[in-house]
Amino acid sequence: MAITVKIMKRPEREVSYLRATLKGMALTFAHLFRDRVTMQYPEQKSDDDWHISSRWRGTHRMLTDEQGRAKCVACGLCPQVCPANCIKLVPGEDEEGHRYPLLYEIDEFRCIFCGYCQEVCPEEAIHVGVHYENAEYERERFVYDLERLCAQTHPVSTLWDPSDPKGQ
Ligand code: SF4
Ligand code: SF4
Repeated sequence: MAITVKIMKRPEREVSYLRATLKGMALTFAHLFRDRVTMQYPEQKSDDDWHISSRWRGTHRMLTDEQGRAKCVACGLCPQVCPANCIKLVPGEDEEGHRYPLLYEIDEFRCIFCGYCQEVCPEEAIHVGVHYENAEYERERFVYDLERLCAQTHPVSTLWDPSDPKGQ
């Protein structure tokens, strides 16, 4: 779209601003009869006209298997790819040689919600979440450990698919 510049001419003599004021008030008054575009948050959170995009990237969730164990196999890819360096992983191994995270933490304060960890995870274990209400009173509470990540229940992001840019 071409951008045009509109040059406003200043009046050369003194003028009354009454007309402009009345025009502004008429415009404001007209809005009283238009459909509302705001909602009364937090009482009202979503409706048919507004809901959070499935591609929204919020705080993380670790998916679990049927036994309730984290699906993570401590491959180390997500801390490797994380540009904010906010994933801490200490891998462990059981007697049968299965790897699992001895320690897995995400500092949600440092996270930039790029979604790389979700994209790279071979087990589809770690996901960015589709929610936004995660205020805390203490900074330390933003470091999510494995137990907390597994306990999250919010929907997870589908990320951005170039073949489906609108996420339909
Ligand atoms: S979303 Fe990005 S910045 Fe956040 S933990 Fe994952 S890889 Fe790191
Ligand atoms: S990429 Fe997935 S499996 Fe690998 S360490 Fe991260 S969460 Fe675990």
